[in-house]
Amino acid sequence: MLNIYCPYCAEKRDEQEFRYAGEAYIARPERPDEVSDEEWGDYVFMRSNHKGLIWEQWEHVAGCRKVVVVNRHNVSNVIQATYTLIGGKEAFLAREQTTQGVV
Ligand SMILES: [Zn+2]
Repeated sequence: MLNIYCPYCAEKRDEQEFRYAGEAYIARPERPDEVSDEEWGDYVFMRSNHKGLIWEQWEHVAGCRKVVVVNRHNVSNVIQATYTLIGGKEAFLAREQTTQGVV
């Protein structure tokens, strides 16, 4: 069982208090009416599903009812950090920058 830190409640709580809400920060097409059905299908249904650190959303349904972002290793289940949506976005973008390029 996971113990997830909720940054709004400022407490670690049992996984049972949360509801999984999918992968975080899926890039929505800027102009949805201009993408093909295949591109829209990829956006709606396709996920990377890789082993390693993943970004996911969990709703604290038995607590504050807010959505928190969890950065978790999906093999070991070790949670590296949890964030608010905005705080997580900043960390996500910073991580993306470091993994995509500058050596
Ligand atoms: Zn909470």
